[in-house]
Formats: sequence, structure tokens, C-alpha cells
Amino acid sequence: MPDPSKFTPVFKQWHEAKQRYPDVLLLFRMGDFYELFGDDAEIAARELELTLTSRRAGEGIELAMCGVPYHAIDRYLATLIRRGYRAAICDQVEDASKAKGLVRRDVTRVVTAGTLVEDSLLDTHDHNFLLSIGREGGRFGLAAVDVSTGDFLVTEPSARAAPDDAAEPELPTTGPERIDPAVAAVVDEAARLSPTEVLLAPEVAEDEALRELLDHNLSVPITVAEEHRGGFLSPAEQLQEHFGVDSLRGYGCEDMSAAIAAAAQALEYLKHTHLDGMPHLSGITTYSTEQFLVIDAATRRNLELTATLRENRREGSLLSLLDRTSTAMGGRLLRDWLLQPLLDSARISERLDAVDELVRDRVTAEDLASYLRDVYDIERLTSRVTAARANARDLVALRDSLRRLPAIREVFDGCEAELLSMLQGRIANLDGLTQLLDGALRDDPPVQITEGGIIASGYSEDLDELRDIASGGKRWIAEMETSERERTGIDSLKVGHNKVFGYYLEVTHANTERVPEDYERKQTLTNAERYITPELKEQESRILGAEERMHELEYELFCDLRAQVAEYAESLLRTARALAAIDVLVCLAEIAIEYDYVRPEVDGGAEIEIRAGRHPVVERAPGQEPFVPNDTLLDRDRHQMQIVTGPNMAGKSTYLRQVALIALMAQMGSFVPADSARIGVVDRIFTRVGASDDLATGRSTFMVEMNETANIMNNATAQSLVILDEIGRGTSTFDGVSIAWAVAEYLIEQIGAKTLFATHYHHLNELESLFDEVQNLKVMVREEGDHITFLRRIEPGGTQRSYGIQVARLAGLPDAVVERAKEVLHTLEREDIGTEIGPSQEAASHVAQTVQLQLFEGAPHPIAEELKELDPENMTPLQALQALTRLKEKAEE
Ligand code: ADP
Repeated sequence: MPDPSKFTPVFKQWHEAKQRYPDVLLLFRMGDFYELFGDDAEIAARELELTLTSRRAGEGIELAMCGVPYHAIDRYLATLIRRGYRAAICDQVEDASKAKGLVRRDVTRVVTAGTLVEDSLLDTHDHNFLLSIGREGGRFGLAAVDVSTGDFLVTEPSARAAPDDAAEPELPTTGPERIDPAVAAVVDEAARLSPTEVLLAPEVAEDEALRELLDHNLSVPITVAEEHRGGFLSPAEQLQEHFGVDSLRGYGCEDMSAAIAAAAQALEYLKHTHLDGMPHLSGITTYSTEQFLVIDAATRRNLELTATLRENRREGSLLSLLDRTSTAMGGRLLRDWLLQPLLDSARISERLDAVDELVRDRVTAEDLASYLRDVYDIERLTSRVTAARANARDLVALRDSLRRLPAIREVFDGCEAELLSMLQGRIANLDGLTQLLDGALRDDPPVQITEGGIIASGYSEDLDELRDIASGGKRWIAEMETSERERTGIDSLKVGHNKVFGYYLEVTHANTERVPEDYERKQTLTNAERYITPELKEQESRILGAEERMHELEYELFCDLRAQVAEYAESLLRTARALAAIDVLVCLAEIAIEYDYVRPEVDGGAEIEIRAGRHPVVERAPGQEPFVPNDTLLDRDRHQMQIVTGPNMAGKSTYLRQVALIALMAQMGSFVPADSARIGVVDRIFTRVGASDDLATGRSTFMVEMNETANIMNNATAQSLVILDEIGRGTSTFDGVSIAWAVAEYLIEQIGAKTLFATHYHHLNELESLFDEVQNLKVMVREEGDHITFLRRIEPGGTQRSYGIQVARLAGLPDAVVERAKEVLHTLEREDIGTEIGPSQEAASHVAQTVQLQLFEGAPHPIAEELKELDPENMTPLQALQALTRLKEKAEE
């Protein structure tokens, strides 16, 4: 940085602001532009494709410069935010015409991805959470704040420990790759909230593993908060002061010091970014991750809940299938319900009752949907109102939305479902506010709030008077044309107006002879002259004066009106949330009718019983063959684990996922794609699906697979539903089978989770004969010679062979390759491997036989036998040492 003392006065201002905001791009208002200088300019020029110039900033100082027009700033900001930058807006904070000397400038807003209220920068269908993470006394605390809706949520995610008596499974869960369960719980919750910016306490930022996982799972900007700056106030006191309460007890988080630290940190940051007006936050909502069915990040991806696995697009996800909401608020809430299904069967039934009633009473549902379609995003409108950022169009949108409330409330009269009546009760009576806005606003105001055209006539006497003056003046001028034509006898005389000269009288050159004395020439055109008269100028200045005062007055009236609306923030937000819930319930009812879903029975039992279940997304996929429904029965005794085998492409994954999705939909309060379904509430859904190389973190497919498996082994409980779609594919067959076998055993014996396990290792079918809890299922195919047809039907029984070669033929592999593969297979099956394929395979085959013997026939190993014989409690240390030496010698033989 050049010597600041050499800067010109305006650059001193810039430099001073830049010092306060060193790591954000500083947009500095000069005239009609926001300019960037120095390094900021180079970044902005590159990212925004602006021309880079330079500017003299003081004696011998040249700074790189680029700029954007002030009226287009939102568009440029959107690009910068999307690319992960933050920007400080340095504005003129006094009226240039009234300033003595240099106009004062100051930073009025720091725009960051997680602190947006600007409509043009927000995604309507998603929350825009800033996620603040703190740590106190070894616990993590999370605070998620969406300033655009006023939501302020806090939690301390709990890591569910593996049962104490459970031995560690034989998996690579130790060593550097092992993820601390507390960190995993934070990352899962963070992934669910899907924030647009993460704010870390300085000590949390030092946790490399957490940072890396957040980075990988969220890919959003991570900001490190400054050291606690609350002055003398503790974090709890900061929150109390902001919300004007004596204690945090009312919010239910008074004992959660980590969550409080995170919340105070978020609040500080918001104040630091919203310097010219902090949006309204409607108190703190404390929640426990244990209230909800936990869906970890891998499961959310694997089940394609909000985006498709391959292309990461919303279209093709369950959310996009279900989303028939009419309002943006409803759209966001639907996403919340989908990612946070409930555990309490009573609350689930409440939602189901409401959906049920709307399914039966279609007229009500349709009425509600049609009213809701006229409701704008009241949450975000309110937030902009309270941040003093709403324009007149926002208030018109709010007014139009409020007009619908009485009708919506009325629709619910006579409703039976408890949830519906409760929501009805939450729609505030805002008739007073509606009337205020009705009387105050014109219908079609401009975007700018400083140029008039906002306030309706009859709202302010002063304004009406000014408008009369202005329009009286204009009428006088319009009449002047006629009177001057008469006076001068020039029929072609015209009155006109332009920006530079104001009003004028125009006479063609042919008639200039007849122009009277009092005309004063102002401008000569090719074929006419333009004149003014003292009277005309007098009228003009009356009009201008009146208009200027009108604009000022309208601006004042508007700001005053906006402040009055802000007083209603609490009721507006409460109403908005009730409308959002109504919207979601109506949407679920519509979907249930259209897609032919049934009401599930949800209880606290241990069974999942589905008759003719379907996969909600696959059955509606474009070009999909008619969907074949399948039954499912999972319980704690004879059907705890189902091993599903069958050829590739037969429908194993689809079946597994459909069971998980039906359970999840039931617990969010939705009807489900089946003929009937009884769902014993599950506490977590785990999935381990397919193999995808995780190049971003440099972990191999196999490592990712084992990480995911380890996560399941460590966190699943007897209430969980586990979906395993192939385990151990990323390694050799023998490793793979062994791991898959051990995982299955552990799930049966130690955890007892309901499990669907699809595998191409048919050896696993042996488990059925060893454990009562296991049942084999196969996906039926019809074989005709070399050809197979997929029947998509799941039936009891195992599969004796794989159909890889037949599927390869279906996939279009050349005949020659298919034929050769069959020959090789034959050879392998005859176990003639050594002579036919090469010596290294012989060794492999030997190992295979040994492993299989040990694994499947339980052939005893001599050392193991001897170990079993030993009785350590009755041995002296010397005897023990001798036994050990003997065993070692045997092993070395
Ligand atoms: P697998 O896991 O056995 O390889 P998938 O479950 O991926 O097979 O299914 C492959 C395709 O088969 C799906 O994309 C879908 O089009 C079709 N499919 C699967 N299950 C069914 C079903 N029950 N009814 C109709 N089509 C199905």
C-alpha cells in the first residue's frame, strides 16, 4: 500500500474504509459509479469482466481501478457473491448538495452470501442460512440464521455413541481417517441446513478435520469470526439485550452455552454486515437433532432427496416431485419437513390427519391453493421492511397478500383436524394493516422510492395540495398553446418540454416574423425557433417546486409507512409461517390425490410393513416401463435383515430406496406410494449406495465406502433403517465378501437395525441358515436361453448365480466379447484355472478355497483351537509366557 499521507482527501477516505475492511472487496461510491481500486479492482475486473484502468490517487500514486454503474450494482454483486466473495458498500452518507467540502462516505453494508436480504440475490425456494459454529466445554453449538425470513435456530447436535458393550467392528475405523462422532454430527446437521455461508469461531476454525469436511460437504464460503467482541457482555447477555429479554429461558436454550456462543457470534456478524439497519429476527428457536429422524449427508445424496446423484440437479429429486407449493415460504418449509422427518408418532399423525382431511375435502384444498397462489413471500417482505430496504412494490405485494387472509381464515371454519384449526388460529388479524396499506399506496409504484408515484391520493392533504399545484400549472401551460395561437395568429405554434430547457414555445422559421415582443429566444433548430416567456417560466418553476416537494414528501410518507408496517413484524412472521404450513399440507394432499398415495399408519412399533410399495420418483420417470409394486416386511425377529440378490439392473437399488423413501415420507407427514403401509418410527436412515470416487478429498472409492460403512456401524441403533447397496466392491472379491459378511453379522448381532442389503455376493445367502433374523430375497428374472427378461418382482429366496454376462449382452457388448466371457466363466467354474489362465490365478484360487472354507464351513484353525483351551485366569505369568512362545513358534511353522 502506498504512503497514505500522500493520498488525495477522497482517497484518504477510501484508504480508511479499506483498512477497516481489509479482506472484502470495497465498492466505493463516486458519482454514478461504485469504484474499486488496487487489488480489489484487479479481482473485480477479472471476475466481472470489467475494463481495468488506473487513477491518480495522490502525489505519485496510481491505483488500478474499475467500476460498475450504481443502478446495476445488484447484478454485479450477485456474481461476486456466487463466486464466494464478500463486498463492502461504501456510500455517500450525506446529501452531496448540502455537504460542505468533501462528502462524507461510510460503509453501510457488507454483502456476504449468508447475510442477504436483497430479493434479487436470493433463491426463492431455499432458505439462506448463515451457519455459525461455536464450541464451549467440548460441545459444538450451531446457530442458523436466515435474515431474509427472520428465522434464528440454535442446536447442539448430539453424536450418538455406539452402544458401550458393542465391540468395535473389524473395519478400518481407526487411524487418521476416523471421524470424531461429534464432528460428524456437526457436519451432518450443517449439510442438512445447507447454509450459504459458514461462520466459525476462531478456535473451531483450527479444527482441520472439521474444516475439511465442511468444505467438502457444503462448498460455501467459510468465514472465521473475530474474537468475541461483545465488550463486557457475555454471549448470553448480548442475546438478551438484542431480543429485549431477561433470560434465555423462554427460548429453551439457557443451558446450552455452545449454542449461545454460536448465536451471539452470528448476531455480531450480522450487525457488522447490516450496518444501516438490522433486519428483524423473531426470537430464538431451540431444537434438538434428536427430535428428528437424522438423515446424514451421504443418505440425503443417495436417496436423491433434494438433488439427483449424478447431475446434482433439483429436477428428478424427491423434493421436486413433491413440490406443488404455491408460495415461496411453503416451498422452503416443504424442504425442511423432507429433511427433518419427525420421530413423535403423535405429531406425525397430526400432520397426517390434516393431509387426510384435505384429501377428502378437495374443495377446501383447491380453494386454499388458489388463495395461496396470490400470496407473496411475506417472510422475506417483512424482513426487508424491518431492515428498511423494502420499496413501494414490496409494500404493494404485502398488501395484496394480506388481502387474501380473511378468505383463507374463513376456509378453515368447520375443519376437524386439530393442526388445521391451530394454523387457522395463527393467522393474525391484520385488517388494520391491510386498510392502512390500501389507503396509502398507489397500485403500480416505481422501484425507486425517491421519485414519487407511490402514495395514493387522499392519504395526505399536503401531498394532494402539491399535486394540485403541479397539475394546475401543467393545465395552465397546456391551455397556453391555444391562447398564444390566438394572440399571435400562428396556427402551428406549439408548447413543448425538454430536460435541458424546460418548457418552451416553438415557432417555425416561416412564422418568426409574427413573434411578439415578450418572447425571448432560447434555441435555434434547423426549421424552428424556441422561445420562453416570463409567465411560462413562472408557471414552470411553480410546477418544479411543487414536484420537488412532492418527491420529498412522498419519500418521507413512504418511510413512515414502512416503519409503521415494521411494527407488525411479529404477527406478519407468525402468519407467514402458518401460511407456509398450510401450503405444505395442501401440497401433500394434492400430490396424494394425483399420484394415488395412501395414508400410512405410523406407530412406535418395530415393524415396517408395506403392501405394493412403489418408488415415488422412478414410477414417474419419463420413459419408465410400468412400475411393478413390491411388498416389504421388516421386523425385529425373522425379518430384521433382508439380503437381496439378483442381476444388475434388475431393480435391487430401486427396491431398497423405495422402502427408505416410504418410511421417510410417512414420518414427514406425507401419504405414501403403496396400497398400504405401517411404519414403526425409525430414528435414523442410513444408506451406503454405489461407489463414487471422492476425488475432491483425495479419498479412494474404497476408503469412502469404508468411511460410510464405519459411520453406520458406529451410529446405527435398533430403531434405525439401514440400506446397504453393495459393500466391499472397491476391493478384491475375498476382502469384499469378508467385509460384507462381517458387517452383516455385526448389524444382526450387535445393533439389531432393520437392514436391507443388496449384494452380488451370493455367498451372503448362507447367512439365512445361520441367523433366524435373516431372510433372502431375489429379484425375479425370466431366462430364455441366453436372454433374460427383468420381471421386477421381489420374492423370497436366494440367487445361485450372477447374470453379469447376460446383462453385458443387454448392454450391447460385442458378441465376440460375450462369447469369450462365457468360455472363461466355464473354465473358472470347472476350476481348471491354473492351466488355462495362468499361474497367478492358481494361488488366488487356493486362497479363495481357504477363505471360503474358513468363512463358510467354520473349519477350525489349530492355533485358534489351542487358544480356546487356555485358561488365563488360572495361569501364572510364567505359564502364560510359555504358552505365548509356543503359539508363536507354531505360527512361524
Ligand atoms: P439394480 O440395483 O438391480 O442394478 P436398479 O434398481 O438400478 O437395478 O433398477 C434399474 C432400472 O430398472 C431402474 O432405473 C428402473 O427403470 C427399472 N426398475 C427398477 N425397479 C422397477 C420396478 N419395480 N418396476 C419397474 N421398473 C423398475
